[in-house]
Amino acid sequence: MPAKNIEELIALCKRRGFIFQSNEIYGGTQGLYDYGPLGVELKSNLKNAWWKSIVYERDDVEGLDAAILTKSTVLKHSGHEDTFSDPMVDCKSCGERFRADQVPDYCKKEDLTEPRQFNLMFKTNIGPVDDGKSFAYLRPETAQSIFTNFKNVVDSTARTVPFGIAQMGKAFRNEITLKSFIFRVREFEQMELEFFVRPGDDDKWHKSWVESRVQWWNDQGISDMSLELYDVPADELAHYSKATVDIMYKFPHGVEELEGVANRTDFDLGSHSKNQKELNIKANVLNNNESNSKLALQDENNNWFVPFVIEPSAGVDRGVLAILNEAYSVEEIDGKERVVLKLKPHLAPIKAAVMPLKKNDENIVSLAKKVKDNLQKLGLGRILFENSGNIGKNYRRHDEVGTPVCITVDFESLDNETVTVRDRDSMKQERISLDGLSDYLQQKIKS
Ligand code: ATP
Repeated sequence: MPAKNIEELIALCKRRGFIFQSNEIYGGTQGLYDYGPLGVELKSNLKNAWWKSIVYERDDVEGLDAAILTKSTVLKHSGHEDTFSDPMVDCKSCGERFRADQVPDYCKKEDLTEPRQFNLMFKTNIGPVDDGKSFAYLRPETAQSIFTNFKNVVDSTARTVPFGIAQMGKAFRNEITLKSFIFRVREFEQMELEFFVRPGDDDKWHKSWVESRVQWWNDQGISDMSLELYDVPADELAHYSKATVDIMYKFPHGVEELEGVANRTDFDLGSHSKNQKELNIKANVLNNNESNSKLALQDENNNWFVPFVIEPSAGVDRGVLAILNEAYSVEEIDGKERVVLKLKPHLAPIKAAVMPLKKNDENIVSLAKKVKDNLQKLGLGRILFENSGNIGKNYRRHDEVGTPVCITVDFESLDNETVTVRDRDSMKQERISLDGLSDYLQQKIKS
């Protein structure tokens, strides 16, 4: 059962150290959030799961980690300088500024200005001279540096179509209308794949990527019941897109985009390429006399062609929000409420908490530490040595943050080398021998 409302999730995130408002001690900054001790683990587990499925488990994708500061020429030819803007209106009576298509209900909408275009890219100065010309943009998406590195990757890996380049990392947008906690923010992370295919094969690959991406979200614990596919109608498509399917999630504030899967044709490689006239580019691209690279491949007859690109583009922060919402559940146990985050074990910020039954018994504490160190060496993620509070309270806290198992070391452990293992979801406790603990945990986290 997902959270009743976003406030429940925000409260849990703050209380347990998942997500905090940025610059909070100075009054906070709208649209910026910081990931705390547990949030940083959850987010990194989600990104690792994406990388594993997109790069390691396939044999047709390479990775990239490119600079965030981006030359304006790149974003001129990508179309962002001209078109990456939202229409903005000012309300003269409430004094606020809104995206023209997202004026909230609390505004009476009586005294709105005519919409004006507002570019969403952040600019910053590069180098010691602030002459207004030497600036760079903070990238508004990770995709563009994949296209500008296309030839570098092809030359260094000898790839040919179909193949992809994946990148995850920060993106920045000066959004006018922020929304719902970390759903729409000004600094966020994306996980983007640009998958290059032969023109003509694009429809088939587009369909197959939509299916794989839905399956991947299912594997992260998001059920099909909470997802909807939105086939973007022709009049809403971006000018470069032949088809886009948005994977929508039922967020607490409504059904909205979690990931977009677009068929971007040959627009991107065509836009950033030199010698465009020789390339029979199908998309409508801006004339490019600044690029020094031909972003095309040769077919078996040595004819040049510009690959089409299929782009599954997902938001990490929206993913975190969806996963938290999906995992959040409240149960009644013996008349008492139990909040439990039923996270998939591979996403859980803490994989296991190891606790000594008696905090001041040297033998128990030292065995518990040894158990923690041994489990930590398995490389499954964070194992916590928990030497505070009583066992019951620890169980409840670990339920709330989604720790799949709690391991208690007690007097019996000293005698017979077994520990009590308590399962988060069933709350069942069983004795497991120290010999078998590593295998048990490995099975649990990989399931
Ligand atoms: P929106 O739903 O805000 O209109 P968009 O269509 O502009 O998003 P894309 O440009 O398709 O988004 O970006 C790809 C993905 O990046 C989105 O599906 C979303 O998960 C994430 N994303 C985009 N903008 C933001 C933002 N401001 N805050 C958080 N995540 C974002």
